[in-house]
This record gives sequence, C-alpha cells and structure tokens, in this order.
Amino acid sequence: MGNCKSSNSNADVVVVQGSPIRNHERQWSDRGRVPANNRSTLQSMARVGSRVFKQTSLDADIEAAGTSHSQNNDMFSNGNKQQQQVKRTTLTEHKASTYEHVHEMVQESIDSIHHQQTSKAKAGRVGLTNLGNTCFMNSSLQCLSNTIPLSDYVLGYDYRSEINHDNFLGTQGQLVSSYAELIKHLWLGSNASYNPSFFKNILSKFSPQFEGYEQQDSQELLAYLLDGIHEDLNRVKKKPYIEEKDCDGTNDEGDAITSWSNYLQRNQSIIVDMFQGQLRSTISCRNNQQCKQQSNGSTDGCGHINVKFDPFMYLSLPISDNCNTLDDCLDLYCEEELLVGDEQWYCPKCKTHVNATKKIDLFMLPPILIIHLKRFKVSSYGGNRSKITKSIQYPLNDWNLSKQKKSSSGIYPLYDCYAISQHHGSVGYGHYTAHAKNRFDGMWYNFNDSIVNGPVSPKSEGLGSGSSAYCLFYNRVERVDSYRGGSKMNGGKKCIEKKTVIRRQSISRPELWPHLQREKVTEWKSVRVNDYVWKDDDNEEEVRAGLGRVTE
Ligand SMILES: [Zn+2]
Repeated sequence: MGNCKSSNSNADVVVVQGSPIRNHERQWSDRGRVPANNRSTLQSMARVGSRVFKQTSLDADIEAAGTSHSQNNDMFSNGNKQQQQVKRTTLTEHKASTYEHVHEMVQESIDSIHHQQTSKAKAGRVGLTNLGNTCFMNSSLQCLSNTIPLSDYVLGYDYRSEINHDNFLGTQGQLVSSYAELIKHLWLGSNASYNPSFFKNILSKFSPQFEGYEQQDSQELLAYLLDGIHEDLNRVKKKPYIEEKDCDGTNDEGDAITSWSNYLQRNQSIIVDMFQGQLRSTISCRNNQQCKQQSNGSTDGCGHINVKFDPFMYLSLPISDNCNTLDDCLDLYCEEELLVGDEQWYCPKCKTHVNATKKIDLFMLPPILIIHLKRFKVSSYGGNRSKITKSIQYPLNDWNLSKQKKSSSGIYPLYDCYAISQHHGSVGYGHYTAHAKNRFDGMWYNFNDSIVNGPVSPKSEGLGSGSSAYCLFYNRVERVDSYRGGSKMNGGKKCIEKKTVIRRQSISRPELWPHLQREKVTEWKSVRVNDYVWKDDDNEEEVRAGLGRVTE
C-alpha cells in the first residue's frame, strides 16, 4: 500500500487508525475530556469525495486495535510502526462518493467502546442537564444527536479541515466545534447525563436571542444551529455572484439542475448534503383585465408563468381545522395561494401589478427531512403567542412522498421517522422533550432533560399522533446492496439493506446530485411488500434481510 500517506502530506488521502495526527487535533481531543480509551474513535477520520482507504478485514482491524489499546493508551504515538503496517495491509483503495465509510468506522468504534464498558454502556442514551428552561435546547439537541450521519460526521470525519475561518456569516468554527464536543460526550462518554453549558455559552455568544434562561422555541434553535454549522463548514471560500434566471416552466428538470449547480457554487457543506432539498415555486399571471381582451375567452390571465427553484432545509407546515394527518398539512402547504391587493405580483408581460396565483411544490427531497409543525402563532392583536393543540397523525415508517415530489427523477422518496421534538402544555408553561430511535437496537427512547427512559413502546408513548409532536425528523431509506458473512469477493451473501445514503455535493461530481440519482422504483415497491425478501440477481437465491434495521 505505497499510496497510504498521512493527512498532512496529501489532502486527498484518508487518515485511518494508527496514522499520525496533526498537533491541533491532539490538543482538541485532550481538551475534550473524553476518556483516554475512547480517543481512538476521534482519530478515525476520513475524507469523502476523494480517494480513501477502506478496511477490508474487520477481524484483522479489531485485533490490531485491541493490541494497541492494551499496550499503549496513547494512540497518537508513532512508536508502533509494526502495528501500523499490519493495519495498513488490511486497507484497500476505494473511491468515496458517500459518507458510508465514515459511518462504518464510527459504528465499529462506538460498538467496541460499548463492549469495553458493558455496565455503563450508554452510547447515545445520555441525558442533558436543564440549565434553567433549556429543555427547548435539549430536545432539539437529542433529535440532532440521533441524526446518525451528522453525528458520524463530527465523530469520525476530519471536520476541522472544513472549517471556513473567513466566512463572516459563521463563527470561525466555534459553534460547530462546541457542537462536536457535545456529541462526543453523548456518544463516547460514560456518564448518564452531560451538562451542556459550554455549548450554551458559545450559542449565546453568537446568537444573543438564546442568552439567558427563558423558555424558547426548539425549532428556532434548530434552524439557527443548522444554519450556523453550515456557514462554519461552508467549503466555498469565495462566493461568486450569480444572477438567478427566471424560468418559464417548460424545462423544470433541467432548470432545477441549473439552479442546484448555482446554489452549490455558493454553498457546500455537510448540511447541504444532508438536509437540503428544492422547492418549486410557480407564480401565474391572473390578470383579468387582460383576460377580457382575449378573444378566445380564456380565464387564464396573460399566460405568463414564473418558476423558481429554492433550496430548503426544513418544511414549516401550517395546521388548519381540517388537518388530521401530516399529509393534510403538506397539502395545505402546497395549496395554490391567490396574490391580490397588497400582495399583487408584477407581471413582466403585462408590465403592471396583477392578481396572480402562487404555488409551492416539493421538487427534490433531501436524505434527512425535517418537518416543523407550526403549532405556535402570534395573535394579530397582542403579540401573544398561542398554541394549536390539534392532534396530527404522522407515519413512523414508510412515509411515501412520491405523489408530493414533483420531479420525475431522483431517489424514491420513502421516509422513516427517527426522532421527534415534542412540546407539552401551554405556551407559557410548556415543557419540551424528545423521542428518538437508537442506532444500535433500533428502539425508541424518551429524552427528558437529564433523564433518558427506554426502550419504550411507540404505542404506549403515543408516537405517531398527538398534539405534542412539534418537529419530526425523517430519514430517507434507500435499498442498498450489501454482503453478509464476507465481502462480495470472498463469498458474502448478497442482501438488501435499508440505508440513508448521504452523497457529497460538489460542482465537480454532478453525477452525485439528487437530480441524477436513480432507483428502480418498481423493484423497490416489490421489495417492500415482501418484507424485504429479495431475489438475488446472480444466483436466484432468496436472501432475507432485517427489516427496520437502518444499519447492521
Ligand atoms: Zn400577465
């Protein structure tokens, strides 16, 4: 493996266990107060979008890692050259286009820490101290912590190499670093709960609205945090000016791709890769004056249509009296809206302000879909907030958005719920909690500040409906070929897994853009109906894979 170099000599090469680590990274992990044995995880860093080295033999790696644990707690030592040699021979070069190998490394590392601390094994089931009305923050943080690809990224990826120190919209990496430290304690620490005051202080420093200890909105925190992490990690160092052209609706698929490309020229980060999709907004002229002049009697205005594709990070859905399910809320969100009076639209064809209709559609959906139910509204007279307590049903598994997604390309949009931020009680005296699915046992846990209960039954907890569900976290499940009991080469059995695949978005790899990802929809449907019994293409052997396990 002559190609295997350390990270400081070639930015295109991954750093794996046993490789040298840069000085500032060592300082960071010392500072993080994570138990020494757990440090090995922190250096399992990988790059995506370039050449990486992937472990091919799990056994050899665990053996090698185990030896170095017992002999030398300081994993940063360069002394064990022989061991490094052993590990390197178990790696093969592999072109990474997704974050999958980061996921695998972190999964194995946390799993091995689990086994070392059997009595206290808490990975991901660690509470957060309430610092005084900070349950809104704890609720959002637990949902984000259980967003596995994001946690894997901060635990197993050299995210520090992506910090944008010059971006005035960011915090020069302070926010993402404090978030990463918190995640390390939730997944690698051995205490039952963690005090997030370090994170809270950094948050308040950059966003004064979160200063003090008053009850706030968990969704506002979530939006701020994701935005902040995005700017901290924006891989675009110099944003070019790009003039967005208006589209006319005749080439939506092509225009959406152009629009995404333009967006990526200014914005590229793990947050874009994971959480961002595209909305299509269509404005149609309904100029009645013009209509009357038309001889064919058409009532469709002058015919001018303006189409735009806008990125989104979450969907804020309204709730009306008629909404009973999440789909109802989504339909209401996508309902055509009339622009009249003060909201009239300037039609470039009629060259005047006219009545118009506006319609929003989901065009491209992201791997992680966050739904915000707009339960809080500000009354028109006082400015007092009130809460809509209507119970809304939402699917925990297999939420099919193929009807709502207007693009005919892209991955089949099927989503499983993995976390819920809940608000109980009234606006002034309410309390936030969260439910989330654990990555290892696939069971639900209840996060109530420093207390974590579970596993709990979704039914007895009332998950899937109710008036407390506030923010819903869904991951898109894809049908991914995998091999069990060995690799593809050495006799592993082909099977199908449900996985959330995060593809790194860059200008240079358009084949990884959501628009150009395809999946055989008919096959997918038959797989689902048959409870994941999948006919192997090669040997006609039926292989049964575990349903509902996101990872294995
Ligand atoms: Zn017009």
